[in-house]
Amino acid sequence: MKKLLIVGAGDGGIILSHSVSASDFDITFIDRSDMHYFQPSLLHAALLGTAEKRISKRRLMPRRSKLVMGTVTSVDLANRSVTADGKSYDYDYVVVDTGSRPDYTSIPGHAGLYREFGDFHSDADAASRMYGKVRGFKGGKVVIGPTYPVFKCPPSPVEAAFLFEQQARRAGVTGNTEITYITPLPRAYPAESINEVVEPILKERGIRVLPFFDVDSVDAGARKIVSIEGDELSYDFAALVPPHKGAGVVKDNCDSDGFVNTDKYTLKIGKYDDAFCIGDATNIQTAKSGVTAHLEAKVVAKRLKGIDARFNGRTNCPFETGYGRALFVISSFESPAVKMRPSRMNYAMKKAMAAMAWPALKGYADPIFDAYFAMTNPEKRMAKSAPGA
Ligand SMILES: Cc1cc2nc3c(=O)[nH]c(=O)nc-3n(C[C@H](O)[C@H](O)[C@H](O)COP(=O)(O)OP(=O)(O)OC[C@H]3O[C@@H](n4cnc5c(N)ncnc54)[C@H](O)[C@@H]3O)c2cc1C
Repeated sequence: MKKLLIVGAGDGGIILSHSVSASDFDITFIDRSDMHYFQPSLLHAALLGTAEKRISKRRLMPRRSKLVMGTVTSVDLANRSVTADGKSYDYDYVVVDTGSRPDYTSIPGHAGLYREFGDFHSDADAASRMYGKVRGFKGGKVVIGPTYPVFKCPPSPVEAAFLFEQQARRAGVTGNTEITYITPLPRAYPAESINEVVEPILKERGIRVLPFFDVDSVDAGARKIVSIEGDELSYDFAALVPPHKGAGVVKDNCDSDGFVNTDKYTLKIGKYDDAFCIGDATNIQTAKSGVTAHLEAKVVAKRLKGIDARFNGRTNCPFETGYGRALFVISSFESPAVKMRPSRMNYAMKKAMAAMAWPALKGYADPIFDAYFAMTNPEKRMAKSAPGA
């Protein structure tokens, strides 16, 4: 039996634990929390007031595995040692799955805005704070958007703008409401093919898009957002997604934002053959999403069996456009995002995936997901639409 240490029992780590053989690995998780959140539910909790979904991590883990409760402060790959709350743990293989977190200290004044308006990226309390503001909104200036290109669930800020507009319309306050979507990027959604679909819908709903808006500071007292160029936006309601940071615990192998230097194909950390990173914690240029964590976990499980599996950068992000419609952002390292229109069918699929969240983490839904990922493979679609194909 080899010792497999999973640092951070997130979506990816739990999926990995169910994907390796019980007779080959003695699995230990270290996590600072026993509670597992279905993070997509925070969006609806903050904008629609629905309950946020959570479960004890122990109920998701294989019965044979161990959970050590503790905060990891160092993963020392050279010495095969992990430190949590002052205690050391050794391993034969280590997989880092510490996720990413919103950082409200990067932008001066942002913490004040977060305290007042909450958010849809942190936890149930912050989501409920935001819903209080959404429910009580009687009209005014609204500013929503990301402040930095790296954050989890790339569609989430545009989804928030769509859902805010939906709620304002239902409350009958769109007449005296002005919604502005800001982004530091050149367009509302980074992938051009998706933006071609989404921007006209934003326009149709009266949501103004302000590209290249780099937030420099927030004056929560005066309710103003200031850009690096000195432009000012006043607001009555604001939700700005902060820069996200990694845990920064892997010694000598993290970038300046705390994300782990990870090979984008093999998912190995640095030069080490016994150390991997999955999910939001990596510095790989792909969507920080549960589906990415899922597919990376499957690659690492195969590599631990000695199979030369490779991650292909596959994304599959559900993207809700309000009024019960959604599309999916499906791409890979080799294939740009497939252009897709929002539909009720996609929305139903998003809901079905959410309903299967816990069984999916335990591997019970693997045959369904494997078939779905094969059917929607963007590289196959690209090959079909190539000239002469
Ligand atoms: C609003 C919103 C909507 C989303 N919608 C979707 C969606 O529709 N589809 C989708 O695929 N994804 C979606 N996501 C993204 C998805 O939830 C995350 O990308 C995914 O959960 C990341 O999984 P992970 O395994 O990388 O880390 P996580 O599941 O975040 O787990 C990280 C774990 O590490 C632990 N940890 C961190 N640091 C330490 C430390 N120092 N010591 C000990 N433990 C530590 C944490 O306690 C946590 O348990 C959404 C996210 C948000 C916020």
